[in-house]
Amino acid sequence: MNNMSKDLIVVGAGIAGLCAAAALASRFSQVLLLDLDECPPQSVTRKTVGQYQQLHCLLYGGLRALATLFPGVAAELEEAGAIPIDFGQDYRVEVGERPWIKVSSNLAGYSMTRALLERVLRRRVLSLPNVLVAPQHRVTGLVLDTASRAVLGVYTSNQVSRTRMNADLVIDASGRPVLGRDLINSLSLSVTESTIGVDISYSTAVFKGVQAADDWKAVLTSSLRHGGLTGMLSPVEQNQHQVTLVSADGSNSPSDEEGFRLKAARLRTQTIANALTNAELVSTISRFHFSNSTYLRWCEAVHKPSGYIPIGDALCRFNPVYGQGMSIAAMEAVTIQDLCKGNRFDTLFDQYLEKIGPVLTDAWSAAAFKDAPTSIPEHAHKVAERQAELIRSAGDNPLVAHRLLEVMHLVRPSSDLSAIELPGLTP
Ligand SMILES: Cc1cc2nc3c(=O)[nH]c(=O)nc-3n(C[C@H](O)[C@H](O)[C@H](O)COP(=O)(O)OP(=O)(O)OC[C@H]3O[C@@H](n4cnc5c(N)ncnc54)[C@H](O)[C@@H]3O)c2cc1C
Repeated sequence: MNNMSKDLIVVGAGIAGLCAAAALASRFSQVLLLDLDECPPQSVTRKTVGQYQQLHCLLYGGLRALATLFPGVAAELEEAGAIPIDFGQDYRVEVGERPWIKVSSNLAGYSMTRALLERVLRRRVLSLPNVLVAPQHRVTGLVLDTASRAVLGVYTSNQVSRTRMNADLVIDASGRPVLGRDLINSLSLSVTESTIGVDISYSTAVFKGVQAADDWKAVLTSSLRHGGLTGMLSPVEQNQHQVTLVSADGSNSPSDEEGFRLKAARLRTQTIANALTNAELVSTISRFHFSNSTYLRWCEAVHKPSGYIPIGDALCRFNPVYGQGMSIAAMEAVTIQDLCKGNRFDTLFDQYLEKIGPVLTDAWSAAAFKDAPTSIPEHAHKVAERQAELIRSAGDNPLVAHRLLEVMHLVRPSSDLSAIELPGLTP
């Protein structure tokens, strides 16, 4: 690949798009990020990203990937107000009979709002000399040469005109499978779109004066039972805490303070409700309904298009309750960055899917086991069943708790769980 005479277009300036731009800026002469939103610099809300105000946990594997893409990012996050958190020591994980035992680990990360993370990443991307962010640009289609199966650029539209923009590579970070689906249809490709109906409702609120205990900074409370209620409490910037309640039983998510507190009291433990007793609600309550996870299985296409790579939710949108989306987007961007160090631009899509496929399958299967057990292959079932068995031992076995945390934080594949030998557990 000739580095300095190529143009890159990234569709979408969310977490995935920002990661992609950072990953590839040094390989292209110009990088243009197009976003239909206004992307104001200090944005607390974003009209085009419905989940913007929901609690977003950045997993350790995601932070590690971000540190590769944005050297020094940890210090910048901390300076911007992110709270350092040791996932082995500071997290109270109430999944299973008893809270997981605390462990010494290298799983140190940060807790913050998604808005803070996006602001810091956007600032870094904008500081790159060859990167331009163009807000209020809606991409309506891909420029395609059907005969050679090559994507040559994008079309953008506003109320009055349609513009063609050429590029040597288009990264689709639009957060939706729309452009990908159109491409599959235009080229008559055989690509399955897997979906899992999840049907969960989120309610998120920010509180001041939360009473955390001496032995935890953040809490995850979840019922293993399908259809249960999950609660998450995380410290965020400005001495505040973000609290999310996730209902998977078809009930409405609360929209007022009284309903929020009542629902928090229905979690399987009172840890979060008690922490909120004297806390003051300082935000509106944001709600979000997530209907299904989607995965465009591009790996099935025998002849993939050139000049196009999907990343983030445009490729695979996971059940958010597992907190994987941003971290996997960052890991995907690192994979593309590594592959572009070689000169194999023509086979980039194939190589990318080959490398990232196992990570996606692992994350997808872990979630699918609980959401739609019949949709995953037998071997993935066994791994997930073992995970459920191990969760029961995580209350008093530090090895088990540590390994589960590493899998949860995308540092190890879930298949590593089968290597743990415990009396009474099937290996
Ligand atoms: C309720 C909820 C909670 C979540 N919690 C977590 C969590 O705890 N941890 C975690 O890691 N992930 C979480 N996620 C997932 C996370 O939000 C995404 O996976 C992650 O941000 C990657 O998104 P993305 O950049 O691919 O897409 P998005 O964040 O949706 O960004 C897409 C961007 O593309 C732009 N765009 C869209 N269409 C066009 C177009 N046609 N033309 C131009 N621009 C366009 C949009 O304006 C937007 O800026 C959660 C998701 C939800 C729904």
